[in-house]
Amino acid sequence: MNQRTQLATPKLTAPKQKNYDVVIVGGAMYGSSVAWFLANNPDFNGSILVVERDLSYSACSTVHTNSCIRQQFSREINVRVSQFGAEFVKNFREFMGNDPRVTELRVHVPCGQRRFRRNPKRMP
Ligand SMILES: Cc1cc2nc3c(=O)[nH]c(=O)nc-3n(C[C@H](O)[C@H](O)[C@H](O)COP(=O)(O)OP(=O)(O)OC[C@H]3O[C@@H](n4cnc5c(N)ncnc54)[C@H](O)[C@@H]3O)c2cc1C
Repeated sequence: MNQRTQLATPKLTAPKQKNYDVVIVGGAMYGSSVAWFLANNPDFNGSILVVERDLSYSACSTVHTNSCIRQQFSREINVRVSQFGAEFVKNFREFMGNDPRVTELRVHVPCGQRRFRRNPKRMP
């Protein structure tokens, strides 16, 4: 039995409020990430609701990923986004305020997916 099956799946609950400033549908990798960054943004004072239909997360793409963070892209913005993602995952506990309950994540960073350049001027 792996760690995922040992964890109890939380029960679905109704939203506590009637209205929210931001509603995010899907609480896996992207939904949770958007919610976390928004909640941690000092310029944001609103309320956030994350709607997730499957709290086991057993069927979503996030749990099936190969944990590979590709960093080779033809556009600089994509490279920078990916580099930050790798940095975030490598230092996940630190980003979470060094909470000892937060696990260290094991990922394959960087991921060597070979790409061929068509236009070297677009490379960073
Ligand atoms: C086999 C596999 C390997 C992969 N390997 C890599 C990799 O190595 N590197 C990489 O960068 N990417 C990889 N990917 C892609 C990556 O996993 C996805 O891009 C990423 O997980 C998408 O995250 P997400 O949060 O957008 O979607 P998901 O993880 O699919 O989550 C969507 C969530 O939304 C919920 N949802 C959907 N509709 C509703 C609704 N109407 N109401 C309420 N909830 C809803 C679902 O239940 C689910 O929890 C891989 C994908 C697969 C399938």
